[in-house]
Amino acid sequence: MGSMDEMTANTAISWFNRLIKPKIKVGSSRAQHPPEGLWIKCEPCGQTLFHKELERNLHVCPHCQHHFRVSGHARIDITLDPEGRKELFANLQPSDPLKFKDLKRYRDRVRDAQKESGNQDAVQVFKGTIQEVPAVVAAFDFNFLGGSMGSVVGAKVAQGALAAVDEGCGYVVFSASGGARMQEGILSLMQMARTSAALTRLDEAGLPFISVLTDPTTGGVTASFAMLGDIILAEPHALICFAGPRVIEQTMRETLPEGFQRSEYLLEHGFVDRICPRAEMRSQLADLLSRLTRTHKTRERKIYRNEELPSPPVAE
Ligand SMILES: [Zn+2]
Repeated sequence: MGSMDEMTANTAISWFNRLIKPKIKVGSSRAQHPPEGLWIKCEPCGQTLFHKELERNLHVCPHCQHHFRVSGHARIDITLDPEGRKELFANLQPSDPLKFKDLKRYRDRVRDAQKESGNQDAVQVFKGTIQEVPAVVAAFDFNFLGGSMGSVVGAKVAQGALAAVDEGCGYVVFSASGGARMQEGILSLMQMARTSAALTRLDEAGLPFISVLTDPTTGGVTASFAMLGDIILAEPHALICFAGPRVIEQTMRETLPEGFQRSEYLLEHGFVDRICPRAEMRSQLADLLSRLTRTHKTRERKIYRNEELPSPPVAE
């Protein structure tokens, strides 16, 4: 209990604060990115986890192996060797050709997401090495407008493939996306063809494309490059689908089977080649990339300019 003088002083300050509103406000970014040392609850098992410990464990719950979603940059950090990595196409900026507005203007949504994440759009592309095997790696950030694929995401995924051709190395894409970015209308749908076409360059050069499906990979991303991997890996228990389970359930009016559209279900039905826990991802990728590139090293590789549009494949 404070003395009478202190109480008077406190009352005086609260009266003063009401009169003159403080100019410094706590931004939303702070609320969504808690300071280090905070505890996080693992929803599936209910355990409380120390933030630092979770980070050390590659954002995987040590009790139930739940794989938490990670940002694009965190994904790059836990995938590429720390030395010699370089970000590509970092400055591509999304535009708003339709001047789209729903509850909020698209331009404002993008600006907020950029401020929140420190990135220009929902995918980050890096070149570097994975356990000393060269690779170009693209990683989606689901926190950035649901990892949706607009023109910039499409351009970066496509140019990442062409960069891998230039470098003569394999290409790895970690998908985490709600699908096409509806605010860009038809332009977002065109990215499905754009990314798929760019992958044919990689194929012609005899270089591997490894698609890694993480929670959640849905919509137009599933319907294009994510399912075109020479090898398709998935993280455990990731949601992988075109239309989500709720939509299907409402349309079919049927209860869906347990684990429907999760990695394990897709593996069983032949859509996924292997489920790879995060702890094994680096060694798995390094192994696959070195095996699949070694066999093609002697083949002559053509170098394509980035702006050159790939032509559709011709049946022989
Ligand atoms: Zn857990």
